[in-house]
Amino acid sequence: MLNLQTIHKPKTLDHALRLAREPDTALMAGGTSLLAEKRREARAVIDLSALELSFIETRGDAVVIGATTTLTSIVDSELLRGIADGIVSQAARQSHANILRNQASAAGTILAAPDGIFSVALSALDARLIIATLRDSRVEFADVSLADFFAERATRLQNSIVTAITLPASARPRRAQIETVARTPRDKAIVSVCAALEIERGIARAGALALGGVAETAWRARDAEREILNHGLTDDVIQRAALAAASALNPRGDFRGSAEYRIAMARVLTARVLRKLSGVA
Ligand SMILES: Cc1cc2nc3c(=O)[nH]c(=O)nc-3n(C[C@H](O)[C@H](O)[C@H](O)COP(=O)(O)OP(=O)(O)OC[C@H]3O[C@@H](n4cnc5c(N)ncnc54)[C@H](O)[C@@H]3O)c2cc1C
Repeated sequence: MLNLQTIHKPKTLDHALRLAREPDTALMAGGTSLLAEKRREARAVIDLSALELSFIETRGDAVVIGATTTLTSIVDSELLRGIADGIVSQAARQSHANILRNQASAAGTILAAPDGIFSVALSALDARLIIATLRDSRVEFADVSLADFFAERATRLQNSIVTAITLPASARPRRAQIETVARTPRDKAIVSVCAALEIERGIARAGALALGGVAETAWRARDAEREILNHGLTDDVIQRAALAAASALNPRGDFRGSAEYRIAMARVLTARVLRKLSGVA
């Protein structure tokens, strides 16, 4: 638990970032994960809810989701349901039960569960994060891919705030499928796999395959993607891609599932999402 004594509610990003420089402070979106964190040093929280970062909108060809947008708004968004078979809305719905979805935010969910199903769906759509930082007393914004963010996340977020998640134009024409395996329907997925592919006359022309529950963060199966892209989704291609996805893994086992089980499920679920996508081609 936090050793909470003060709650700040800044109205500007500039103010929030200045507060974030203070020692012993923590950023709070929905607070559902933060308040359970064992950070006794954290005496003050910076509530992000007055920063007007709750929105889902089109900017050019991209779709932008504000950092504090709740998972419920994402589930209900007509705009998001119209992109890549609505996979982002589906992943938001599968992430948590109803009550938690009303509170949990988009960015908070990525940060609290970087290997969770929501992060996996966003990775498969090549999502990017907009990150605000104070430099020489001015607010600067960096636009980084989710994959780069995950690789550098320990240092990336120092004195910074995620302000938005961007789905690039390339996400729009993709067909997408997500598959998970869990102990119960409401439990955290042991393994999840999402494929989001642009399929033209049966050939996968562009896209990505992402897995969760097999590494610290959502993991892009680049070798498997190479097996798929510019090929038809035949049984042979699907089996090679599933094997490539599973062969590259070195997951940690836990009480939900052993390392061996995770590798086996990665192969099964990868084949399953690709087989489903071969049916829509
Ligand atoms: C009953 C219950 C059940 C839960 N079950 C699950 C589960 O099954 N699976 C699961 O993965 N999680 C679970 N959680 C954890 C948690 O609810 C989720 O991970 C939730 O999605 C976090 O979102 P949030 O907006 O509440 O994040 P917060 O708690 O507000 O923040 C999470 C972290 O991200 C940081 N942060 C938040 N927003 C920003 C931002 N914009 N910029 C920079 N840093 C930021 C915070 O400082 C904090 O470290 C559960 C929690 C509860 C209370």
